[in-house]
Amino acid sequence: MNQRVHLSGLTQPELIAFSEELGLPAYRGRQIFAALQHRRLLSFDDISELPKDLRASLDNVAQAATLSVESRYVSTDGTRRYLMKTHDNLPVETVFIPEERRDTICFSSQSGCPLQCTFCLTAQLGLLRSLTAGEIVEQIIIALNDAYGVGVRLPRGTNLVGMGAGEPFLNFDALMKALRIMANPDGLFIVPNRVTVSTAGIVPRILDLAKIPDRPHLAISLAAPTDELRNELMPINKKWPLVELLGACREFEKTLRAGERFTFEYVMLDGVNDSEEHARQLANLLNRHGLKAKVNLIPHNAADPLPYQASSEEKVGRFQNIVESKGIHTFVRRPRGRDIFAACGQLAARAGTTINNSEGQYQMR
Ligand code: SAH
Repeated sequence: MNQRVHLSGLTQPELIAFSEELGLPAYRGRQIFAALQHRRLLSFDDISELPKDLRASLDNVAQAATLSVESRYVSTDGTRRYLMKTHDNLPVETVFIPEERRDTICFSSQSGCPLQCTFCLTAQLGLLRSLTAGEIVEQIIIALNDAYGVGVRLPRGTNLVGMGAGEPFLNFDALMKALRIMANPDGLFIVPNRVTVSTAGIVPRILDLAKIPDRPHLAISLAAPTDELRNELMPINKKWPLVELLGACREFEKTLRAGERFTFEYVMLDGVNDSEEHARQLANLLNRHGLKAKVNLIPHNAADPLPYQASSEEKVGRFQNIVESKGIHTFVRRPRGRDIFAACGQLAARAGTTINNSEGQYQMR
């Protein structure tokens, strides 16, 4: 067990208090926070403005970083997947998705996942453990440094999505703390408005999120338009069935800001949930609950041993037309990083089939 304090998981006031406990003036706490969160340094040794003996004594009681990058895989579409290990040797995966207008980082909230969605590879790992706030923040720092360089200012508008491994709402407090740390203007300055968190439907936490003024955007993984089918695909539905889930969404909708929509994600499984009837049921369900959400259709990312195939483009198109014809905005999500097990539902600490970047596997620290 590691007893040293992981400083990436402290808010700025906590870091100042921590420094004061060590007998340091408050400005040192601010300096350390800026070095870790603004310049994204991952070692006390690199904080050159701190006296050498202070760096050494910090090393005795604290850690700047706890994750190690085991492998980095680069897709033919430019997506990068990082397979990291925690200090207790558990996998953490993070995906960097370059896009024309802005880049997106998809982070994990847990190592493995306790939910048993039948179409998701992460489920096969089971829950290993929830990540700490520091581990959530550090994943993002590692991905940012690899993409843009250590200490380099972030391009405007890097987005975060909590859609990696795990169920973010079963690690709510650590997640919210990580988001508060990252929002700090003296640090990463990634504000909640640029963050989307996805849940399989942990109803009480949806209601909690609705009460937080400075909250991230919300996405809900739906995958089925009826309880019967959803119970089968996403067993969490037995605990919080559709009527409760969509009721919570209605509550949440009252807190939407101007121009804000929340999103339903609908993974499309060939011959399972992609018929014209399912499309009508889905549109009717959302309309019946008076929800003005948008729907993201995600063609299934197939992987051994998942028992599904992706719906054909034609079927996805037909499904989309029906849902749209009933007044619901629908987008088809283009799969990213499928070839390196980086796409939705593919994070299961796989070694990956292709390592086609020139550096191959590499160690970041
Ligand atoms: N546990 C949270 C966060 C994970 S988000 C949640 O369920 O929302 C991951 C998204 O990928 C979810 O919307 C999920 O429905 C989708 N997904 C899971 N497995 C998939 C697969 N094999 N192909 C495509 N999408 C998948």
